[in-house]
Amino acid sequence: MPTCRICGSQAEHCTFVMREMMIGLRDEFSYFQCADCGCLQIVAVPADLARYYGEGVLQL
Ligand SMILES: [Zn+2]
Repeated sequence: MPTCRICGSQAEHCTFVMREMMIGLRDEFSYFQCADCGCLQIVAVPADLARYYGEGVLQL
């Protein structure tokens, strides 16, 4: 079970699979909603964020 990045909970979170639809790539991403604090967050941030945010993405 993923760890909540906000409160650190490792409870039985609800998980969801969603598809990228805004730019039409249709790539699937897994998200979970923390069972303790309710925060909805992606399970794993993709390494290639520029693929989804285009040339305007901030390089961290
Ligand atoms: Zn949480």
